[in-house]
Amino acid sequence: MSDQTYGFDTLQIHAGARPDPATGARQTPIYQTTAYVFRDADHAAALFNLQEVGFIYSRLTNPTVAVLQERIATLEGGVGAVCCSSGHAAQIMALFPLMAPGKNVVVSTRLYGGTVTQMTQTIKRFGWSAKFVDFDDLDAVRAALDDDTRAIFCESVANPGGYITDLDAIGKLAGEVGLPLIVDNTSATPYLCNPIKHGATLVVHSTTKFLTGNGTVTGGCVVDSGNFDWSASGKFPSLSDPEPAYHGLKFHETFGPLAFTFHGIAIGLRDLGMTLNPQAAHYTLMGIETLSLRMERHVANAQKIAAWLEKDDRVDYVTYAGLPSSPYYDRVGRICPKGAGSLFTFAVKGGYDACVKLIEALELFSHVANLGDTRSLIIHSASTTHRQLEENQQRAAGADPEVVRLSIGIEDADDLIADLDQALTKATA
Ligand SMILES: *Cc1c(COP(=O)(O)O)cnc(C)c1O
Repeated sequence: MSDQTYGFDTLQIHAGARPDPATGARQTPIYQTTAYVFRDADHAAALFNLQEVGFIYSRLTNPTVAVLQERIATLEGGVGAVCCSSGHAAQIMALFPLMAPGKNVVVSTRLYGGTVTQMTQTIKRFGWSAKFVDFDDLDAVRAALDDDTRAIFCESVANPGGYITDLDAIGKLAGEVGLPLIVDNTSATPYLCNPIKHGATLVVHSTTKFLTGNGTVTGGCVVDSGNFDWSASGKFPSLSDPEPAYHGLKFHETFGPLAFTFHGIAIGLRDLGMTLNPQAAHYTLMGIETLSLRMERHVANAQKIAAWLEKDDRVDYVTYAGLPSSPYYDRVGRICPKGAGSLFTFAVKGGYDACVKLIEALELFSHVANLGDTRSLIIHSASTTHRQLEENQQRAAGADPEVVRLSIGIEDADDLIADLDQALTKATA
C-alpha cells in the first residue's frame, strides 16, 4: 500500500506493509534469513540480470527492510529508498553514485558534528572533497560551485538546533545549476518537513534518531525523489553510462526515475555492504507507526521549555527557531510548518563551569551523545565531543563553552522544567 492520497497518520502505519502472504501475519514479520530459494535456474538468471525484481541475498534486499524502505519513501514523497546500517552509511551511499576522484560536494557549515568530520577528513580517502559554505549566503554557495561539483548538501533543521535552512532558496539554486540537492532530514523527520517539495533530489536520514525514536538501533536511509535527469549533463556516468558489472546496462535508461534506487541496491549495497539488518528494520518500523504523535509532543514540549528558559534570569540566550526572537522564526511556517523540531541550545550564565555543574545536577535529562529519543537528552559539547578543540574552534562549530544542547523528549513538560529549574539553581549558585 503506497497510495499517496492517504493522510500521514495512515501512511506511517500502513505504507509498504501488507498481511504476510504465507501466514496472514498482520504485523510485518522479521524475515531473519540470509538467502531466498530460486524457483528455477531461469528465475535466478532473471534476478541476477536485474530483469526481474525479487530477493536474492539479504546484503541487497530483505522483505522486512523492503517494507521500511517503501514506508519512508512514501512519507517523504519519493519514488524509492535504500536503507543502510547507519545515518553516516546513508550519506556515503547518497554520494557514492554521484562522486568520483577529484569531484567535490558543496556543503553547509551548519551540520551534525560527525558529518563535518566525515566530509572534511574521511571522504578525502576516496579522492572526494567538500567545500563548506554559509548557506544563508546564496552568492557564496553559487561561488563555491565549479565544474567538478557533483552535489549540494545541507540539513533541513540543522544540528545542534535553532537553525532552519532556506530549502526553497537552495532548491531553486540547485535546479538552476542542474546539480542534485541532498538534504539530511534527520532532525525534522518527514512529519515536520518534506525536502522533496522544496527541491531536494535525495533525502538522507539517520533513522537512529526520531524515526526509530527510542534509542534502540542505528540505521539510515536514502530517499530518491525520482526527479533528477541523471543523463542531461553527462556528469553522472555511474547512472547514465553502461555499467560493466551488468553487461553494459544503463541505470537511468533502464530504470528511469528509479535509477538511483536500483543503483543503490544493485551496486551500492552489493559492493559497499552497508546493509540494514531486518531486526533493526523491525524496531524502526515500530517507531514510525507513532511518529506523528511523538513529533507533536516533542515540538510542544520544546516550544514550552524554550520559552521558559528564555525568560529565566540564569539563562543568557536560547537558540530555538520556534521562538519569535530567533532570526529563523519566519522560516518555520514555510519549511517545517508543524514545528521547529525539538533540538536547541541555550547559554548558561556562569559559562563552562556552570554548564558542567548543570549537567551533573540534572536528574531526568540524560547526558548522552544522541538525540531524537523519547527521553530528554543533554550534552555539553565543549567538555565532551568538542573538548580537543581550541575555544575559537568550539565557537565556530556552535559548541560555545557556555552553551548546552537539549534534545527534548516526550515526558511531561512540567517535570522537565522542574528538573532544569533545580539544576540551574545549583549550577549558578
Ligand atoms: C546522528 C546523525 C547523523 C549520523 O547518523 P548515525 O545513525 O549516527 O550514523 C547524521 N546526521 C544527523 C543530523 C544526525 O543527527
